[in-house]
Amino acid sequence: MEISFNNTKILATVGPASNSFERLQALVKEGVNAFRLNFSHGEYSEHLEVINRVRDINRQFNTSICLVQDLQGPKIRLGDVVGGGVEIKEGQRIQLVCDGSVSTQNRLSTIYEGLANDVNPGDMILLDDGKLELKVISTDKHMTVEAEVVYGGIVKPRKGINLPDSNVSAPSMTEKDIQDLHFGLDNDVEWVALSFVRRLEDINEIKRIIKERGKDTRVIAKIEKPEAITNIDEIIAATDAIMVARGDLGVEVGMEKVPMIQKMLVEKSNKAGKPVIVATQMMESMIVNPRPTRAETNDVANAVIDGADCLMLSAETAVGAYPIETIRSMSLTIRMVETNADIFNKSYVLNPHSNTFYNDSLVASACYLARDTNAHAIIGMTKSGYTAFQLAKHRPKSNVFIFTENERLLTTLNLVWGVRGFYYNKFESTDATITDIKETLLEAGFIKKGDVFINTASMPMGEQKRTNMIKLSIA
Ligand code: PEP
Repeated sequence: MEISFNNTKILATVGPASNSFERLQALVKEGVNAFRLNFSHGEYSEHLEVINRVRDINRQFNTSICLVQDLQGPKIRLGDVVGGGVEIKEGQRIQLVCDGSVSTQNRLSTIYEGLANDVNPGDMILLDDGKLELKVISTDKHMTVEAEVVYGGIVKPRKGINLPDSNVSAPSMTEKDIQDLHFGLDNDVEWVALSFVRRLEDINEIKRIIKERGKDTRVIAKIEKPEAITNIDEIIAATDAIMVARGDLGVEVGMEKVPMIQKMLVEKSNKAGKPVIVATQMMESMIVNPRPTRAETNDVANAVIDGADCLMLSAETAVGAYPIETIRSMSLTIRMVETNADIFNKSYVLNPHSNTFYNDSLVASACYLARDTNAHAIIGMTKSGYTAFQLAKHRPKSNVFIFTENERLLTTLNLVWGVRGFYYNKFESTDATITDIKETLLEAGFIKKGDVFINTASMPMGEQKRTNMIKLSIA
C-alpha cells in the first residue's frame, strides 16, 4: 500500500462510516496515522472489532497505525424528554431537577446528582453545545434549581449540559470511564484520552491506574474546561500529550477565546516536547459535502502553522458521507502548508537544572547540525521513546527516523510530529549498527547514495543510558 507522508499527523474518529476493514484501510492509504475510539458511543464488541482490524492492517501493510481510546468523562447530560423533545422559550421560568423523571416543558431532568449543589444564582447553564442558555435564579443546593431561559429552543433527550461558571464536583473519571479504561488497557491501546481534565490530580489518578495494571499506555489530557486553562502548566508537565478539545472548550469559555487558547496550548506543548492534537469541527461541513469550506481549509492550515503534532476529525470520519474525501483534502492541505510555510527548525532555551539536560542539549545539537548540513535524515535510537519526542520538538526539516526494539513504540510514536518508526533489535556495536541501519534505509529507498544523515545513539550500546552521541555520515 503506497502511503504519502506528512509531518503533521491525522487522528480520525471511527464510527459507522469508517469501521469496516476496507474503509479503515482506505483511510490509512489517504493519510490517517491514528484512529480514535470514542467511548461516548458503541459497545465493547464493536470497539474490539475495530482494534483487531487496525492491527490486521498494520500486519498486512507494515503500517504503524495507533489507537486512541477517548473516555467520555464526567459529561453532564439531560435525561429523557417527553415526546422526544420540548420547546422552551426566552424569559420562561424553569426547574432543573435530578429525580430520574422525564423532562417536560417546565421541568428539565438531569442525570447529574451534583447540579443543584454546584451552581449558584447568576450562573449560566448551557444545553446542547450552548445552543440553549439558562440563568440560575436560585438553588436549594440539594435537588432543585430554578432558572430563567435566556436563549430558548427545542430541548432534546440526553443532550449535554455545560456549567462554565460553576465548579463542577463530579469526579474526573466516572465508574463507566474506569471500566472503559480497563477495557482499553486489556486491549493495549497506545493512548488514552481523558475528558474534562481540570487539575493535576486528574492526570495522576489515571496514570496510577495504568501503572497498577503494569501497562505503558500514554495519557492525552483533553483541555475543554476553564479550570484546565488555569492549571495548564502542571497539567502539561504531568501528561504525555494534550488535546485542544475545541467543542466543549468553545462552549465553556466562549468561542471567541478558543483561537488564542489554541495557540497558547500548542506553544506550551511544543516547548515541553509533548504532542498536541487540535480537535473538533476542522472539516465539519464535509459531514455532508464532498468539499470543505475555505474557512475549514484555513483552519487546518493554521493549526499546522501553529505547530500542532496532529489534527483530529470527529463526525467527519465517524458518521459523515465523505470520510475518504475528508482525509484526502486534509492531507493535501497539510502537504501544501508543509511545503510552503516556514514551520521548521525551532530552537529552545534549555533548562540546565533539568535531569535530562545533557540528553536534551545533545538532541538540540543534532537538530542544529542537521539544519546546517541540510541533512536528509536524523536517525534516533530509543527504547523509552524520549529521544523521539525530543527530536520532534525541534521540528527538524530533515526526516526523523526512529529505530527501536520496543515494538509498541512504533505505533505509539505515530501520533508524534514527523516521526517514522522502524523495528530494530540487532544492537551489536555502534559502528556496525549505524552501517546496518544505513543499509536498511538505502534498500527501502528512505535515503539514497550521497545523502547526509545524522545518527544519535547511546554509547556504549545496551547500557540503557540516555542518548549521548551524534555522528554525521554520508550514505
Ligand atoms: C471536544 O469537545 O472538542 C472533544 C474532542 O471531545 P468530544 O468529541 O468527546 O466531545
